[in-house]
Amino acid sequence: MLNVPPQAFPAPSSQQRVAAGGRAKVPLKPGRSLMDWIRLTKSGRDLTGLKGRLIEVTEDELAKHNKKEDCWICIRGFVYNVTPYMEYHPGGEDELMKAAGADGTDLFDQVHRWVNYESMLKECLVGRMAVKPIAAPKGMLPEKKVLGASARDLTPSYDWFQTDSLITIVIYTKQKDMNAELVIVDCQDKRLRGEIIVDDHSYLVEVDLDHAVQEDMAVNIAEKVGKVEFILKKKDNIHWKMLGQALESHNTFIKRTERGLFYRQCKLVSKTEVTHDTKLLCLMLPRSTHLCVPIGQHVYLKQTIAGTDVVKPYTPVLPFLPLDFKEPPRHDGAHLYLMIKIYSCGLFTQALDHLQIGDYISVSNPEGNFKKSQVQTSEDLFLLAAGTGFTPMVKLLNFALTEVGCLRTVRLIFFNKTEDDILWRNQLEQLALKDERFEVQFILSQPTKDWVGKQGKISSSLLSECVKRSRKDSKVLICICGPTPFTEQGVQYLKDLGYSQEEIHTFTA
Ligand code: FAD
Ligand code: NAD
Repeated sequence: MLNVPPQAFPAPSSQQRVAAGGRAKVPLKPGRSLMDWIRLTKSGRDLTGLKGRLIEVTEDELAKHNKKEDCWICIRGFVYNVTPYMEYHPGGEDELMKAAGADGTDLFDQVHRWVNYESMLKECLVGRMAVKPIAAPKGMLPEKKVLGASARDLTPSYDWFQTDSLITIVIYTKQKDMNAELVIVDCQDKRLRGEIIVDDHSYLVEVDLDHAVQEDMAVNIAEKVGKVEFILKKKDNIHWKMLGQALESHNTFIKRTERGLFYRQCKLVSKTEVTHDTKLLCLMLPRSTHLCVPIGQHVYLKQTIAGTDVVKPYTPVLPFLPLDFKEPPRHDGAHLYLMIKIYSCGLFTQALDHLQIGDYISVSNPEGNFKKSQVQTSEDLFLLAAGTGFTPMVKLLNFALTEVGCLRTVRLIFFNKTEDDILWRNQLEQLALKDERFEVQFILSQPTKDWVGKQGKISSSLLSECVKRSRKDSKVLICICGPTPFTEQGVQYLKDLGYSQEEIHTFTA
């Protein structure tokens, strides 16, 4: 079913060898791919050396297991024997050894908190820490995690009231500029989860409701006063004695990075071809979900492949490039559009490609560090995209051309291998004809001899030719996205050409 050749996998250019966040990954030995790891975990081999027992681990005991051949690591209070995993770790053995015999939670969160380690390492579980680990368990709110005594007043609060037919939960965010992108709500069965993003913090209302509610839910946001309401329709018109049972993370206000990723099941409603290997997937959010993915942010998709949860990031796009800027794009908030390249040896994309219309897939809350304000003051915007690195540019391009008044030029420099690989070429060319501020340049690394346009890969000379301020002192923003070496080289060349770090934004996970 899965097209995964065991020896040649991952290929030298595989995502498993190139870190998402720009970190260099080490070459894995043949037979040490994620798929090989999944096979080993299914083989029935005793990977902990404890013959299936789970033990309580003291800090002293943990500290003893600090060598490659005997390496235990604690993540969020659970201890794993990672020695069997060493050779399969895409970041290399040395990265894992940084947390040998210790609590690796913070390190793990910094590098790849979205990786589903519980599933990946379940056969390596030694047991729980006997005493509280140094890093706080996810979702809990120890005193030091609150914004601080003086800032404590900034912690949002909630209240609720009811009529015969409705339950209204009101959140006072104490944040002036609330908007729909900062409010993520899911209500499944009787479980309500409402997350409010306040800068780099997250406030959560999470309860098991007292009674059932209907599927459709409304979210009202009073932007200027920072009041958010979730309006739920009662299934039965009875009086509720209480809102419900608080769940573990209810009414907590913690750093966003410490909040676990939340997934909901979305239905695949259409799949259309963009190029020979790239498809546009349309996913429908559940009716009781309120979720808008901000410009430049990605979501994680999760699929269970051969019994293991595998997670990969994707950047939602618009269904098409709107040419008439007076009309907002058909974006109803109920659908997510993903433009995804299917790799013939890709673990995740092969499984994605096998999904049928009507099938469900898990989609996370959005993440990413791009801020609209970065582009709102720009006069010249340059978008350097390679392959599917085009995806974050789609919403950004639309936003810049529709809502950024001071923009004089927007130039997309789009790197691809061949003409057949260019995504939405027609739409981009039409847009360039329609809007004189917009220009697109295609650069091919493997053109046929008929190609009359530019060729090559990203280089200093190419960038000095294509990226130029429209005026000597104009405000510039240069956004880069593509394979990690492309992005890294691009940043270096731009810096050599005199652009500052503040003028460059790279899209990474
Ligand atoms: P893997 O199993 O990791 O790789 C298997 C095979 O794929 C390799 O053997 C190789 O043949 C091929 N392959 C993988 N990468 C490359 C490459 N760069 N060049 C040549 N061959 C390659 N992808 C999208 O299609 N759309 C998106 O919107 C998108 N958004 C992303 C957002 C972020 C923040 C990041 C970090 C990545 C994004 N990606 C996107 C990439 C995506 O997350 C996966 O890495 C990709 O789909 C490959 O997954 P896979 O498991 O199928 O491939
Ligand atoms: P690809 O292999 O088709 O290559 C497209 C172009 O990228 C090439 O023509 C070349 O000009 C350039 N390129 C490729 N490898 C290079 C290298 N080693 N050095 C310099 N330039 C290079 O690209 P693809 O298969 O579409 O891959 C797209 C990449 O973009 C993936 O790595 C994906 O993870 C990444 N991506 C990242 C995000 C994000 O937000 N961070 C979003 C989407 C895609």
